[in-house]
Amino acid sequence: MSSDGRVNLLLVDDVDENLVALEAILEPLGENLVTARSGEEALRALLQQEFACILLDVQMPGLDGFETAALIKQRERTQHVPIIFLTAISKEERHVFRGYATGAVDYLFKPFEPEILRSKVGVFIELTKKNQEIRRQAELLRERDVARERRTSEERYRQLADAMPQIVWTADREGKATYYNLRWFEYTGLAADEADDSAWTLVVHPDDLPHAVASRARTLESGQVFEVEYRFRAADGSYRWHLGRAVPIRGGDGRIEFWIGTATDIHDHKRTQERQGFLIDAGALLAASLDYLETLRTVAQAVVPALADWCAVHLLEEGTLRQLAITHADPDKIVFAEELQARYPAGENSVPATVVRTGEPQLVSDLTDEMIRAGATDELHYELIMELGLRSYMCVPLVAHDRVLGALTLATAESGRGYDDGDRSFALELGRRAATAIENARLYAQAEERAQAARVLQSVGDGVVLIDREGIVRLWNPAAARISGLDADEVVGRPISELLPAWRELAERIPVANDPGVARAQTMPLEIGGRELWVSGSGVAVEDGVVYAFRNLTEERALEQMRSDFVATVSHELRTPLAAIYGAALTVRRSDIELGDDVRDHLLDVIAEESDRLAAIIEDLLLASHLDSGRLQLNVRECDAGALATNVIDAARTHLPDGVNLELELEGTVPHVFADPNQLQQVLTNLVDNAVKYSPDGGDVRVRVDSDGGSVRLSVTDTGLGIPEDEQRRIFEKFYRLDPNMTRGIGGTGLGLYISRELVQRFDGRIWVESREGEGSTFHVELPAAGRTRRRARATA
Ligand code: ADP
Repeated sequence: MSSDGRVNLLLVDDVDENLVALEAILEPLGENLVTARSGEEALRALLQQEFACILLDVQMPGLDGFETAALIKQRERTQHVPIIFLTAISKEERHVFRGYATGAVDYLFKPFEPEILRSKVGVFIELTKKNQEIRRQAELLRERDVARERRTSEERYRQLADAMPQIVWTADREGKATYYNLRWFEYTGLAADEADDSAWTLVVHPDDLPHAVASRARTLESGQVFEVEYRFRAADGSYRWHLGRAVPIRGGDGRIEFWIGTATDIHDHKRTQERQGFLIDAGALLAASLDYLETLRTVAQAVVPALADWCAVHLLEEGTLRQLAITHADPDKIVFAEELQARYPAGENSVPATVVRTGEPQLVSDLTDEMIRAGATDELHYELIMELGLRSYMCVPLVAHDRVLGALTLATAESGRGYDDGDRSFALELGRRAATAIENARLYAQAEERAQAARVLQSVGDGVVLIDREGIVRLWNPAAARISGLDADEVVGRPISELLPAWRELAERIPVANDPGVARAQTMPLEIGGRELWVSGSGVAVEDGVVYAFRNLTEERALEQMRSDFVATVSHELRTPLAAIYGAALTVRRSDIELGDDVRDHLLDVIAEESDRLAAIIEDLLLASHLDSGRLQLNVRECDAGALATNVIDAARTHLPDGVNLELELEGTVPHVFADPNQLQQVLTNLVDNAVKYSPDGGDVRVRVDSDGGSVRLSVTDTGLGIPEDEQRRIFEKFYRLDPNMTRGIGGTGLGLYISRELVQRFDGRIWVESREGEGSTFHVELPAAGRTRRRARATA
């Protein structure tokens, strides 16, 4: 049917006049008449339009009426269109029958009655219009059903959306919100009239809004799925992380009709992720440095503001809890908090102190006014805490190996966040990691300290030993080994009393202090392995025994002894001739008495002799000093020991005391020796002088020079006092003299034999004594014969 309500009628005849006649007859029906001049043309018209009825001429060239009708009936779209055959010729039954057989509804013969034709066609028009009406109504009905259906389904979707725990909204093409589900209102706490088309911007966290707006704009433009993470403000003012997602819904034409958006709460997930990420970072940070104080401060810095608004770290140091760090994103707030703490110092019942004492974590998700009031000291304190705006806190112990090292406190304020069990687990883990880092750093420092102490012990000059409570040696440093002559490996682990029999006595004499600061040393002789040592020892009691420190003072002691010997001897030795000179000089000068010439001469002799003695002593001192410092210049050359001995004896004889005989035994010719003749003469003079001097009761002194060819030996034998055997080695030491009781008070400096030995050694010779106490002594000097060795004059070293 055309849009004006008229139906189409198809008139088919190959003869124009017939068509004109038909049009004229049917015109009054007021319908739309379509003409076709052949069967083919009719079929074409049927493809383009719907017809209420076809008037079909039977005799036509090409497709005739029957054939055309048959084709029409074959097509599904046209098979029910009523066909009225028109014929002028085929009036026979046969044709009529064929016409009906092909599906004609009527068969009219030309010329036909216009009235009849019009009424017959009118019936079909009527029929078609009725059908059309019915179809239209059915259509309408269906549309109405669909609309109702859509309404219910929309309603259902809405109910579904409202029932969802997720936030859901829809938005139009431009992104303006058209609907928010129930959960949205519940979560945001907004009223229906506040929920305008951009209400979402009110609840997205201001920090996340710019990003959300930008990605929404991009999505609207591209028509792709929108996805963004942002924090949504809840009715209580806190923010939770959500994953916002919007999907475009497109119509049949592919154009976006609207958007469906959802916001899924990913807060816990996000927090877990955030906390895990933080734990990993903090772990790396803590492991990276051994300066744990600094790292803990850094970690406390990093906690804010992502996981807390406030963070404080307390450490237990020698029993007192010290706040190592307090952090907040805003430095002014830290200053405020520190002032608050200075004004109201934390007592024993402060949260960190309690946590450290009990080892139990504390968590308060929602800090109430009453709680703050209960914790405050006074009204002002309360008001100041309120100013911090604390909302929630947790405090966990820093535990490593069951030891509480401190506490970590996290608190929230302006973020409005409330801590939960997940946060507590996180804080506990962070606390554990921090504690482990602290312990590692401390252990390392201790180990380092011990290693250093061990190194010091290895290199220190003092002997350091640790004797445990059972008397077992636990430590024996290299200096202890040196002093004692006992190696650590043969000593450590064994009882000290076995190793040093004198230990018991020693341990009694060494003072043991409890504090190294007051340990005092005691100096004493110690016999170890047949040697007598002078050691100074002190002890300090430690947890597992006593640490003794020893210093070998033998050399110092000997030096000290020598010094005092020297002072005593020299002052005595100098004083004797000086007194004689002084006395003689005074007497000579006296005018009150008349001195005879003899007496005067004698006194002058005394002055001269004692001056010589003084000079000799000073000479010896100088010589010894030069020998010690290596400054003595020797003029070594080949010389005749026999001739030298003769000179010495001749000189000695000039002042030989009574009762002493002096003999020289020189057998034949003796090889020459290499020496400084003056010095060698001095050695011999010393020996002869001693032999005479230490023969106070007189006796024989024999000087013998002989040779076995390879060496020349000079021996001085006396029949005097003799020297006890255990002193024979020591008489060659500088300033060493026998006990005056043994030498009957005979004076001397103790330098003669020392100088002699030093000189003889410089001529590559040796000197020794053979003696028996009370039976005299023989001193031997042996020098290599000059023919045997090639020697050069040299400076002594
Ligand atoms: P001094 O100036 O005391 O003689 P020496 O070095 O020459 O010093 O001798 C050291 C000590 O050795 C003497 O004090 C003395 O006791 C002892 N001594 C040296 N020679 C003899 C000796 N011929 N007979 C006994 N004792 C001697």
